[in-house]
Amino acid sequence: MTIDAHTGVPAGSSALEAETQRVGHSIAGALPPAARHPIQALDGKAMQLASADQELKAALFRFVDVVPACRSMDDLARHLTGFLHEVKHPPAPLSVAMRMADSRAGRAALGAAAAAGVRHMAHRFIVGEDPRAALPVLRDAWKRGVAPSVDLLGEATVTPREADDYASRCAEALTTLTAATAQWPTRPRLEGDSHGVIPRANLSVKISALTPLLRPHAPERGQADAAERLRPLLRQAREAGAHLHIDSESLDTRDAVLDLALRLLAEPEFAAGPSAGIVLQAYLRDSPQMLHRVLNWARDAGKSRAQPLTVRLVKGAYWDHEMVQARQHGWEVPVFDAKADCDANFEDLTRRLIDANGLVRVAVASHNLRSLAHAVAYNRLRGGTDADLELQVLKGLGDGLAEALAGCELRVRAYCPVGDLVAGMAYLVRRLLENTANDSFLHDQAAGVPLDDLLSAPTPSHVLAGRP
Ligand SMILES: Cc1cc2nc3c(=O)[nH]c(=O)nc-3n(C[C@H](O)[C@H](O)[C@H](O)COP(=O)(O)OP(=O)(O)OC[C@H]3O[C@@H](n4cnc5c(N)ncnc54)[C@H](O)[C@@H]3O)c2cc1C
Repeated sequence: MTIDAHTGVPAGSSALEAETQRVGHSIAGALPPAARHPIQALDGKAMQLASADQELKAALFRFVDVVPACRSMDDLARHLTGFLHEVKHPPAPLSVAMRMADSRAGRAALGAAAAAGVRHMAHRFIVGEDPRAALPVLRDAWKRGVAPSVDLLGEATVTPREADDYASRCAEALTTLTAATAQWPTRPRLEGDSHGVIPRANLSVKISALTPLLRPHAPERGQADAAERLRPLLRQAREAGAHLHIDSESLDTRDAVLDLALRLLAEPEFAAGPSAGIVLQAYLRDSPQMLHRVLNWARDAGKSRAQPLTVRLVKGAYWDHEMVQARQHGWEVPVFDAKADCDANFEDLTRRLIDANGLVRVAVASHNLRSLAHAVAYNRLRGGTDADLELQVLKGLGDGLAEALAGCELRVRAYCPVGDLVAGMAYLVRRLLENTANDSFLHDQAAGVPLDDLLSAPTPSHVLAGRP
């Protein structure tokens, strides 16, 4: 058992475990009924079927990916049935759909139904076509006690023009959000912690969208190019009193992104602001060293900044990609391959972050009730206030959870993607993949795993194997 040197609260201590269970049960008790089955609620049958059948899942995801390129309902239906023909034993409802594709009228009907289905699914995750269109949803969330972070969809730009477009969309989003949020009603729980004021306007950005030149083996050109577009955004956020959060992507850009963020934020012109943040991915085996590095920065270069760095702890959205990439190249796999190891590491990092609350703002982002309950419990046992811990969820997946967390008077933020369906496809497919994976909390929850099991502590594989 690890004992935290500073706090004296042992990891896995009975006090921490008991408090985690208590908090987990109280959040679960506040969940609205639909949130107890988020995947079924998501899109009914298709996700359930896809979860149970790997071939079907692959076919449906390839279909979702081509939807934006389809020119007509007929075209859409042909693609759908084409992909489904690759499934050896299609379930009954799909056989009916495939028979519809035999006639032109049937194809048009099938195409329309499929397009409506994908659009419906996308709209659960994507709150509006642009920030202005998203404002009613964002304001409504705020009124119900959930702060938003807006993410402009569009990943990995290929040309300088695309990067310029993304940067100007970010600038416009900051302007729109700053003006609109100033009119929102006061919500003290969402607007301050022991470090001071928490900005209302909050934008998440991706460095790969700010430059087409980010290359893992020659990061300097990409960093210099991205810095040209990031600096004006940082200046604008500082002037507007907004928060700018830099998302993490796949490992090949991780170091370049983190180096760039920490370097720019340490520049004297940004000492007075803006409030800013980075992301730490717990599925990476070297994430404890990354946290060490970030905390050293916060102690050293970061201490002259007016607002502490926010660290958003996540598990990581590119697990399949990292596994495939490493295997293809014969590299050592950089991510944990047992889910419990990732979850246990997430809890270790949560405790280290909360211990460092004087240096950084802590945001724990997860839909896993156990991971969140553990964070709340540890923070309370350590003597922290709930105001000093932000809990984050993704719009569309964590709506009910956000409502429950707000109902328990916890500070919660929802990450809200904004953009059109085409730009959103990569994001949508990633969310679907993640939530039909067998190793997923939402999958287990939807499958009816009992609450006590869902809340049980992750047992790392070395413990299961009887190793110290
Ligand atoms: C507000 C918010 C912001 C986010 N921002 C980012 C971001 O900037 N960058 C980013 O990469 N992700 C981001 N994510 C996504 C996040 O990384 C997770 O993919 C997602 O939240 C699922 O994790 P969970 O804790 O909710 O669910 P859980 O079901 O508890 O965990 C699922 C996760 O566990 C990991 N996993 C699955 N199988 C295994 C296995 N066999 N071995 C080891 N690990 C496994 C994967 O990371 C998977 O996503 C964000 C999530 C939220 C809620």
